[in-house]
Amino acid sequence: MLEQIADILLNHNKFIITTHVNPEGDAIGSCMALKAMLEQMGKTAWIINPDSTPRMLEFLDPEGSIMVYEKAACDPLFAEAEVHCTLDVSEPKRMGALAEPVLNSKLIKVLIDHHPGGEHYTPYAYVDPSAAATGVLLYDLLEALPIELSPDVARFLYVAIMTDTGGFRFPNTNSKAHHVVARLLEVGVDPGALYTEVYEKDTLPRFRLFQKVLLTTQFAADDQLAWMICPRGFFDQTGTTNADLEDVVNAPRSLEDVEVSLLFSEPEPRHVRVSMRSKNRVAVNELAARFGGGGHDRAAGAVLEMSLEEAQAQVITAAKEMLAGLG
Ligand code: 5GP
Ligand code: MN
Repeated sequence: MLEQIADILLNHNKFIITTHVNPEGDAIGSCMALKAMLEQMGKTAWIINPDSTPRMLEFLDPEGSIMVYEKAACDPLFAEAEVHCTLDVSEPKRMGALAEPVLNSKLIKVLIDHHPGGEHYTPYAYVDPSAAATGVLLYDLLEALPIELSPDVARFLYVAIMTDTGGFRFPNTNSKAHHVVARLLEVGVDPGALYTEVYEKDTLPRFRLFQKVLLTTQFAADDQLAWMICPRGFFDQTGTTNADLEDVVNAPRSLEDVEVSLLFSEPEPRHVRVSMRSKNRVAVNELAARFGGGGHDRAAGAVLEMSLEEAQAQVITAAKEMLAGLG
């Protein structure tokens, strides 16, 4: 499949690249890497995403080349492009406002992803759930193309892999990820500098949001389950948005007994986003799937159209059942 996708890239000139709603490091890093790879081959590529790039990742796109989908501005690009590449997306729904224009377009569609059990809407799908990040799969693609690994592409892929592995500490971290990262360091990636860019340039508003959310933490199931909430008021009070919640759900993982950590946020009334993380034993994508969501076994999520209270009640009951089932 990789060879077929490489042929598609080589034989066309104009590309649109899209990732998922609420893009994080793997999403933005992978988009920027593919765009740079295509440009190395003399092609034109536009990144059109459903949501804006979070502040902590803006350094990857200093020229602000990433567009947020707007029908009037983007439809002419869909008319001009030949190929659409979707990265780090397991099902069209995760493309938000882009799902309809992408699925309805006549463009050749390429999908590169590492989520298990996705819904693949194109025959040109390179999907490998054993990959730590979509960035690893883009490295495979690079090797199938007649181009050298550039320092820029290496930086983008490093951020993709560093963020999706939680800085090489989550269980998806594997030898292939480290092999790829070793190659990235060989062309000049500076791990300390990129760590600082991503994790040590936070804003006070985000820190204040973090403080408020941490104070809501509750525990159940012999402290194996931790959950936090972020009602809409927290965003208003701290001058933040839902994108500023990135990584907050991971905080309770530092506790020895915690197996599952959940974060419920309500960016809009009756629109509750649940972020789910587990350490070793619970497949949180199964928990998410019960509520129409999905993801990886150790990091998943869902959106529930109900009140924050109802969402908590339902998801916590289900999580307790799963933990009880572990025996
Ligand atoms: P996060 O908690 O960081 O928003 O999401 C963690 C992971 O869960 C994402 O990388 C994605 O794989 C998955 N995920 C989050 N929300 C949803 C959702 O609404 N639907 C699906 N299918 N996956 C989701
Ligand atoms: Mn990913």
